[in-house]
Amino acid sequence: MPLLENNLFKTSKKINNCIAIIVCICFSIYSCSPKPYASSNKVYREKLKELTKTINALPQDNTLDSLKENNNWIGTTNFGIRKPNLVIIHHTAQESCEQTLRTFTKDSTQVSAHYLICKDGTLHHLLNDYLRAWHAGIGKWGNNTDVNSTSIGIELDNNGKDSFTEAQLHVLEDLLAVLKKKYNIPTANFIGHLDIAPGRKVDPGILFPWKRFADSGYGLWYGDTTNTVLPVDFNVLMALRIVGYDVSKPQAAIQAFRQHFLQHSNTGELSEEEKKVLYVLMMRFM
Ligand SMILES: [Zn+2]
Repeated sequence: MPLLENNLFKTSKKINNCIAIIVCICFSIYSCSPKPYASSNKVYREKLKELTKTINALPQDNTLDSLKENNNWIGTTNFGIRKPNLVIIHHTAQESCEQTLRTFTKDSTQVSAHYLICKDGTLHHLLNDYLRAWHAGIGKWGNNTDVNSTSIGIELDNNGKDSFTEAQLHVLEDLLAVLKKKYNIPTANFIGHLDIAPGRKVDPGILFPWKRFADSGYGLWYGDTTNTVLPVDFNVLMALRIVGYDVSKPQAAIQAFRQHFLQHSNTGELSEEEKKVLYVLMMRFM
């Protein structure tokens, strides 16, 4: 290697080493700090103040301009706060709870959830249940096209390949019990991210024990299909639509149904047995 190039190579190597050392030091300071999330907690409180202004505004102050002339505000005495009515279960697709906490406390990521459950069963409550987390993204369930506005998002620390831990599932069960009771969430309204975003998302994945949770009252499940006779005019897409799936991409909707209710990732058209499962399930959603 010529002398000049050799020197340049050595200099850039030194710079890289320096950057690596600075990153390590920053990370050590961050993780050793007694309150590593103090700054994000501060941002949370500031955002809350802004949102409180919205809630405090009187109807006459936020009526649409085109309606203002006709508006004579008279305050009703009967109202409450809107409640969540849907629970979306996710896996983080990240390597650790710490990594996800960093993701959810950085403005630039624009993602969040109400709860995060770590592998050891530690539960982090990240956002007041009445506020809108950014966990669902583009998605649809039935005619609900703004899932974030109506749902609670729960993230399970899981890289998408490993099984969920028993400690995690126990805590999830306790959490779902509280949410279901507190907000009176219908049994059918406990679903996964893959259900509302077929073809775009696969979480919480085929290893999530949906049947176990359905048996406890969180989500619907099909029963015995031994004596099930399919109607001659049984329509797969219509059945998926009745369950709640967005069928604008038919194959993606079929795959989402498969991964949730049949817990495998085979592709292709549904077999007769799989259609029977869908049929029985559809009847439960009617
Ligand atoms: Zn997700």
